[in-house]
Amino acid sequence: MTKGIYLLSGSNLGDKNANLEQAKTLIQSHIGSIERFSSVYETAAWGKTEQPSFLNQVIEISTSLSPGSLLNIALQIEQDMGRVRVEKWGERLIDLDILYYNDTVYSSSHLTIPHPGIPGRRFTLVPLVELAPGFIHPLLKKTNEVLLEECLDPLPVNKIT
Ligand code: AMP
Repeated sequence: MTKGIYLLSGSNLGDKNANLEQAKTLIQSHIGSIERFSSVYETAAWGKTEQPSFLNQVIEISTSLSPGSLLNIALQIEQDMGRVRVEKWGERLIDLDILYYNDTVYSSSHLTIPHPGIPGRRFTLVPLVELAPGFIHPLLKKTNEVLLEECLDPLPVNKIT
């Protein structure tokens, strides 16, 4: 069982709060135990600004799944929840990203851990800092708190719960 795994869930379509809740239920039944989760934050859409705003939440889990199996199950959950992959950065019912897998550094054609978007995305760093301000990024050797201080992403992130 590996602890200290952080997932980011995001939704910008339909009943976004309900989608985040359903994702947590499916994570609990198919991936492992949810140890903690952050507040829900709202952010204007990133990459494509004409689409609805996103809700995001970071979830800390422990699991016995390997990084590759964790990705496969996360993609399966996205599909089960009816996500249609229309275009990159497009609208989505649910998006699940693996942010950190403890202090593992892993890279394959399908999967990069830590998630390469972490330092550049305020909507990822704000909920991460709520849960784990002192967690050290295993490649950048900086805490989440310092990564947030240094983050240049201008999009505001607002706590809604
Ligand atoms: P997206 O459209 O942003 O949901 O991208 C999903 C794809 O990104 C997946 O099919 C994965 O193969 C790939 N990917 C690479 N690294 C990660 C990661 N750390 N977490 C989730 N997906 C990843």
